[in-house]
Amino acid sequence: TIALLTGASGFIAGHVLKILLEKGYTVKATVRSQSKADYLKSLYPADSKLSFVIVEDIAIPNAFDEAVKDVDVIVHTASPFHFKVTDPVKDLLDPAIKGTTSILQAAKKFAPQVKRVVITSSFAAIIDASKGDWPEHSYSETDWNPVTWEDAIGTNPSTTYRASKTFAEKTAWDFLEKERPNFTITTINPPLVWGPMIHDVTPETVNTSNANIWSLVNGSQTTVPATPALAWVDVRNVAEAHVLALETPKAENQRYFLVAGKFSYKGICDILLKNFPELSGKVPTEGGISTKKVFDVDNSKSKKDLGIEYISLEQSIVDLTKQFIDWVK
Ligand code: NDP
Repeated sequence: TIALLTGASGFIAGHVLKILLEKGYTVKATVRSQSKADYLKSLYPADSKLSFVIVEDIAIPNAFDEAVKDVDVIVHTASPFHFKVTDPVKDLLDPAIKGTTSILQAAKKFAPQVKRVVITSSFAAIIDASKGDWPEHSYSETDWNPVTWEDAIGTNPSTTYRASKTFAEKTAWDFLEKERPNFTITTINPPLVWGPMIHDVTPETVNTSNANIWSLVNGSQTTVPATPALAWVDVRNVAEAHVLALETPKAENQRYFLVAGKFSYKGICDILLKNFPELSGKVPTEGGISTKKVFDVDNSKSKKDLGIEYISLEQSIVDLTKQFIDWVK
């Protein structure tokens, strides 16, 4: 089976690529430059099943027309995840939404043999920020972020990011309904994703979600942050879910809220100090305690349909921090 993996240079995609190759898929990976292809190739030097297509910007119309040719299944992860926004439309909304449109249009037009498309969506497309703590609610796949375009183009970059994921996912489901392509769609909707990094990364370029943990390890936080996002999942579970979604008939045309559970940064700081006593003095100890009750999260569908066994918070944080320890030395 030939799989097209978009955004292969990314944190999550690095793990998806590893599993696809381990499972014997032939992988066509899209990256933005030859140097990113060279790095990934260096991880699998003997693997002749890995090839690359350069797609510099997914927001450009017809970006994927070449890449989709000859592939059987598609995993679309490429989408900007950062908060350095000067122009909400150009920086986040266009690549997320137009990127999704162009991969689906390309598949329909140039790759009628494609039967399955898996898209990395997000808890961002589920959570309703206007409800705040919402202690009586448990979020699941049935929830949708009601964000509007007007909110999206405002000045809050996290609202814009969440909107980019919401509109991108909606675009996909609308496409399915209106265009009736030969393929089915599955979306994987994780909250904050943490865990070991196998992509090309330095302390300066650490991806947005792991940067939260990096800031607790490198001494840049003097107090424990209040917890703004509350739910998390390990990258290995997220990657596994993408590949299982390609293979599991039940997953066709479904969305999966891939969530291990809730967290507090206070709890994470405790895990850090227990497992890495050498970080004492760097990891903040003051603050971060809250007795507020907040929403719950429901991961039963991913366990039932995909058989996901969630990695524990302690395991995830320890495995990630082992890499950070090398950086702080
Ligand atoms: P990364 O930043 O590591 O990966 C993002 C990938 O998208 C990179 O390969 C990046 O390429 C590519 N990309 C971004 N913008 C463009 C563009 N305009 N044209 C071409 N390629 C582009 O982050 P993650 O691995 O965390 O994110 C992967 C996916 O997972 C995204 O869809 C994100 O929204 C989603 N997600 C992530 C969560 C998390 O906590 N990490 C939570 C929920 C969803 P390059 O590296 O060259 O810039």
